[in-house]
Amino acid sequence: MALIVQKYGGTSVGSAERIKAVAAKVKKWRDDGHDVVVVVSAMSGETNRLIDLAKSIQATPVPRELDVLVATGEQVTIALLSMALDEIGCPARSYTGHQVHILTDSVHSKARILEIDDQRIRADLAKGRVVVVAGFQGSDQDGNITTLGRGGSDTSAVALAAALKADECQIYTDVDGVYTTDPRVVSAARRLDRITFEEMLEMASLGSKVLQIRSVEFAGKYNVPLRVLSSFVEGAGTLITYEDEEMEDALISGIAFNRDEAKLTVLGVPDHPGVASKILGPIGKANIEVDMIIQNTGADDTTDFTFTVHRNDYAAALKILAKVKDELGARAVSSDDKIVKISLVGVGMRSHAGIASTMFEALANEGINIRMISTSEIKISVVVDEKYLELGVRTLHSAFGLDQAPN
Ligand code: ADP
Ligand code: ASP
Ligand code: MG
Repeated sequence: MALIVQKYGGTSVGSAERIKAVAAKVKKWRDDGHDVVVVVSAMSGETNRLIDLAKSIQATPVPRELDVLVATGEQVTIALLSMALDEIGCPARSYTGHQVHILTDSVHSKARILEIDDQRIRADLAKGRVVVVAGFQGSDQDGNITTLGRGGSDTSAVALAAALKADECQIYTDVDGVYTTDPRVVSAARRLDRITFEEMLEMASLGSKVLQIRSVEFAGKYNVPLRVLSSFVEGAGTLITYEDEEMEDALISGIAFNRDEAKLTVLGVPDHPGVASKILGPIGKANIEVDMIIQNTGADDTTDFTFTVHRNDYAAALKILAKVKDELGARAVSSDDKIVKISLVGVGMRSHAGIASTMFEALANEGINIRMISTSEIKISVVVDEKYLELGVRTLHSAFGLDQAPN
């Protein structure tokens, strides 16, 4: 007998029929003698609907109230799933994040979990009940409702699994595992049996939204066995695990991409000490996160300075740069929000040279211009025009031998 934490995403609980199907699945695990804690997301589309509703009242909703609102999505599904379980003779109890003391900091809409009190959950499990917990939410020490950022139910599940020392945390979603790249974009993508925490963390940070970044961080830190599987078809899914010898064989494990970026350049900046901080200081002060940064070698005592930000912050960043440009006596500001970032990820990169040149050559052969490049130990990222996203990802997927054999 094992203790399993299962998380079902929005599509998996997207209708009454699907909720019933989830209940049947959960009951089967329970009937097999396991203790089961279930974390659910809001029904698909619901969180977006609630955010839009809020914005129809207030352009920038008060963060505290927005959290109160969006947290209701998950409260609906915990109740419905518990009813569905009860209906098929499987005793269950639903709880909001606050009720099971998922304590977070007070940063609304991207709160971090600090502590979970497992007492209530354990007491229910001991009585043979399935415990159904609302994902994505917690409360701060003053009892204010908080949410954990988009995709946060993954993190709720992993945090609960860590707190309960569960034998496995199973993330059920609408694909049957982690693929070499998003299977909705590249049909030749291949399911991975296993991927390391480190690689999964890079994939998630570079745009593969199959798991929320924090859930992977948490699982790595607390050693939670984490598996991604389909709630629609049977299969072993993908295990996120520690690195072992065999895994070193793969040069590239996956390709991630991010459509949420925008690029800004300050042209003709005087090439003096302190310029980078004069440009990025005000950006940081405005709470805008910067991703890639490039400064060209100076010519004529001036240089160009380019960086990328999230598209949501594009307008705000442009406004700031207009001021900075005048203060610095720079020539101009240019910008582009029709760009994407494509990244190769693999622990195998550590021990192999030549990956970058293969990547650049493959893109060049398709006439894809690279606008920015950045590398780290286990990843290489390029920024290209948005229109080349699919072609670029497909090209690299083939160039690095990731395509599945045609059947
Ligand atoms: P859920 O609602 O269950 O949390 P998400 O939409 O958050 O589901 O995550 C699943 C989606 O992640 C898939 O439908 C797929 O399009 C996308 N995805 C992106 N990259 C990958 C990848 N490398 N492997 C599998 N799925 C991926
Ligand atoms: N419902 C939340 C969202 O759509 C949390 C989640 O699904 O994980 O982001
Ligand atoms: Mg998700």
